[in-house]
Amino acid sequence: ILTVEKTKKWMNEIQKRMEENKEQLTALDQAIGDGDHGINMERGFREVLAKISDTHYESVADVLKSVAMTLTAKVGGASGPLYGTAFLKMSMAMHGKEVDEIVFKAAIREAVEGIKMRGKAGMGEKTLYDVWNQVANFLEEEPVEDWNALLEVCQATIEDTREMAASKGRASYLKDRSKGHVDPGSMSSYYIFEALMTVLE
Ligand code: ADP
Ligand code: MG
Ligand code: MG
Repeated sequence: ILTVEKTKKWMNEIQKRMEENKEQLTALDQAIGDGDHGINMERGFREVLAKISDTHYESVADVLKSVAMTLTAKVGGASGPLYGTAFLKMSMAMHGKEVDEIVFKAAIREAVEGIKMRGKAGMGEKTLYDVWNQVANFLEEEPVEDWNALLEVCQATIEDTREMAASKGRASYLKDRSKGHVDPGSMSSYYIFEALMTVLE
């Protein structure tokens, strides 16, 4: 389901989306955070592409390890280490394996556990964990017949975050005043999965 080339294309597609939606992500973060999420994501994935485009990789796991290191090192915000951990756990779950559908699904679950370990967030805390966990849950209701349904799961979860009061990250300082705005990290996670769809199809 994933090869080195497809994984590079995935990152390329993520980078395009983060660049195109930089203002939107920043606006979402201005409402309930410090207004840098678009900047963080755009910079992070620009650095990722700079790193991976002219590096030769033997495996999908190696590409994702590079992605993880770059995000953790280059993104200052909470989201850098969280996404870094997600891609690192994915890489570890794929190590030494061909990435077929079963390996891929297990790797997504590992990523979710990594996000949880690092951010200590559970469902309903208005973070990107909500989206990742719902994606992993959806993938476990196998077999996946319609990959695009994954994006509907993401969209519904983003919308669910709107009425939540944040209890993790900067938005938690606002408590109930964080209600009425969708979580920025949930939105950037959507772009990650939307980009993934362009290579899985
Ligand atoms: P910062 O908040 O440091 O400025 P960003 O703006 O780049 O970092 O990222 C904010 C996003 O990170 C939030 O919208 C939320 O989805 C996610 N986030 C923050 N803290 C946590 C946490 N403890 N667990 C999971 N996700 C979190
Ligand atoms: Mg921020
Ligand atoms: Mg910040």
